[in-house]
Amino acid sequence: MTDGVIDLRSDTVTRPSPGMRRAMAEAEVGDDVFGDDPTVKRLEARVAAMLGKDRGLFLPSGTMANEVALRVLTQPGDEVICEQGSHIYNYEVGAAAALAGVQLRPLEGSRGVLRVEQIEHAIRPSDIHLPVTRVVCLENTHTRAGGAIFPLEEMHGIRELTGGAGIAVYLDGARLWNASARTGVALDEYAAQADSVSVCLSKGLGAPVGSVFVGDHSMVERARRYRKMYGGGMRQVGILAAAGLYALEHNIARLEEDHRRAAQLAEAVEGCSRARLVGGKPDTNMVVLEVLDGPAEASRVQEELAARSVLVVPFGASQLRAVTHLDIGDGELEKAISVFRAVLS
Ligand SMILES: *Cc1c(COP(=O)(O)O)cnc(C)c1O
Repeated sequence: MTDGVIDLRSDTVTRPSPGMRRAMAEAEVGDDVFGDDPTVKRLEARVAAMLGKDRGLFLPSGTMANEVALRVLTQPGDEVICEQGSHIYNYEVGAAAALAGVQLRPLEGSRGVLRVEQIEHAIRPSDIHLPVTRVVCLENTHTRAGGAIFPLEEMHGIRELTGGAGIAVYLDGARLWNASARTGVALDEYAAQADSVSVCLSKGLGAPVGSVFVGDHSMVERARRYRKMYGGGMRQVGILAAAGLYALEHNIARLEEDHRRAAQLAEAVEGCSRARLVGGKPDTNMVVLEVLDGPAEASRVQEELAARSVLVVPFGASQLRAVTHLDIGDGELEKAISVFRAVLS
């Protein structure tokens, strides 16, 4: 990492490695709006195969993937059930309402996990006064819950419920890679619990840009049109897809290292007197901690960490978040732990 700064703000801060940059420089490209970019096509087919779906679509961001998905799966006025801490509800600038014209119905989960009965209860009966419940959106791992894993069995129960009711399940799987690496559940097993899924290449996998939406042929065909409408039709974008392919090849097997390092950092925090761990031991690569003396103290802690070259982000009142990733090796982790101990003890 440059300048000796240990950047734990997010796993999006990773920079493309020399090998990834080489793959990008050498990528075979064409105009992808014409469907001519062979590297994009390879990436889309590869991710679709990994997730067990018909086809994939490369998009510039996870936000665009989510919003295109909602547009494909709904009509204006429909209702979409989601979890109240979900990305789609909190961090997409109100796009679900602005772009798809849908109403989000947030339910309070437990560490991001919704129970079948909760969803069953929230499904609207058929009545002229009511919106139509069209989609259930799940998030795995759940960012706001600190990278929490949505268990396969829970997803399966929800799939069974919604399947009978004609309601689609959409999985925001920005960090599904982390869930799979941690649990050993295959990506396509998770994806089988949803009609369509999106995954990010730009988080723990370390690519500079990109998400892939997967689903059946007709969904992806329509998603391709909405991607164009939203300004996401890109040209010689094989340069970016090559980074994604490189990431799939080289950076999935190592995700467990990030999880191990997050666990080590969490353990160190547990031993500190000025803070406590939120949500117990991390499921994946995020450590969330609460500074005991309140919000002002939390921002002081953040500043003190930064003064010692360790960067974290505020994560709600009195809370801070640290994320391990590709550019944090054992050396960086060791230094981060000693800084945390110095500041928090
Ligand atoms: C990061 C993230 C997104 C959005 O991805 P961007 O590429 O930043 O737009 C969507 N969902 C979840 C759960 C995320 O963590």
